[in-house]
Amino acid sequence: MAVIGAGISGLACAQALVRSGCAVKLFEKSRGAGGRASTRRRDGWWVDHGAQYFTVRSARFAEQVATWERLGISAEWQGRIVTVRADGSRIPTSDVPRYVGVPGMSQLARELAADLNVTWQTRVDGIHPSQCGGWRLRAGIDDLGTFDGVVSSAPAPQTSTLLREVAPALADTCDTVDMLPCWAVLAVLPEPLDLGYEAAFIEGNPLVWIARDSSKPQRPQTPEVWVLHAGPTWSAEHIEDEACDVEQMLLGEFAALTERSELRPISVDAHRWRYARSLEPRTDGCIIDCDARLAVCGDWLAGDRIEGAFLSGLAAGEQLADLLVRG
Ligand SMILES: Cc1cc2nc3c(=O)[nH]c(=O)nc-3n(C[C@H](O)[C@H](O)[C@H](O)COP(=O)(O)OP(=O)(O)OC[C@H]3O[C@@H](n4cnc5c(N)ncnc54)[C@H](O)[C@@H]3O)c2cc1C
Repeated sequence: MAVIGAGISGLACAQALVRSGCAVKLFEKSRGAGGRASTRRRDGWWVDHGAQYFTVRSARFAEQVATWERLGISAEWQGRIVTVRADGSRIPTSDVPRYVGVPGMSQLARELAADLNVTWQTRVDGIHPSQCGGWRLRAGIDDLGTFDGVVSSAPAPQTSTLLREVAPALADTCDTVDMLPCWAVLAVLPEPLDLGYEAAFIEGNPLVWIARDSSKPQRPQTPEVWVLHAGPTWSAEHIEDEACDVEQMLLGEFAALTERSELRPISVDAHRWRYARSLEPRTDGCIIDCDARLAVCGDWLAGDRIEGAFLSGLAAGEQLADLLVRG
């Protein structure tokens, strides 16, 4: 089997297949595991620029989180998190436990990927029927091999492009999901910024989330690193802007929001997530074309969060393994 993508869903799928005795090869276009649950590393510090934390609702995911906790790669984040209303008033958010990967979010995916056969920096751009049955994958002019089945865990629009020729019905299903963008700005400040909270959901502002990343467990206390996420409407309006312009605009919003006349970051970076979250995630869990042995999984099929991604991948892996065992 081939699995496209080494985010949480692709890795959970591959793990389930391997547990059932299937040979699995993963292909990932980036240099490392994690996808949207990744950590950006710099000299002496690092920051979660995508998913900020995860929550646990289902027993299956709770089992996985218990394993991560035993391995020491996840921990509860007890930072004070508030909602800042458009009029500036603050209300506390629900006290549901929030967890993070340690030392960074990408540790979760790194652990899932540890024993898997992953080919990094390989963007699959062709899935073709093979003459001897199964599917032949390509990355540009490179032939990646022939597989008896293929799972795509890429976000819906990217999976749609991959499957359009060979599985138009699956591609049509992907097209029912709108995925919204998010500009993330990562700012390193010269001194601690005490706002009376560690993170906030923001209402009525181009920014929808701000968080002091250094307040998460097992992060360096210095430098002081803040993550700013713009909302989907603002991000879509500025999607093709230069990163340096986005950095200045969102830092300006942050300064205004926190009533700091000047913020002079030591360094600032912006990251554009083109397909951050689904507008209305589906609830299928995963979709499998049994005859063709093609499957899709991902957060957009199961609730749009890390937990959903994990459960979707697990469902795809377990159902495909059943199918292969039954022949
Ligand atoms: C800014 C932001 C904030 C978020 N905040 C939270 C949060 O606080 N809590 C939470 O639970 N969730 C949050 N999420 C959502 C969470 O990150 C996702 O639900 C989850 O990580 C999705 O995992 P996935 O495996 O389904 O997809 P992805 O992580 O997108 O994985 C897909 C993988 O496929 C790879 N890929 C794509 N196309 C190809 C190709 N052609 N060939 C090879 N590889 C390919 C990609 O590089 C990627 O690694 C956030 C997301 C973003 C972007």
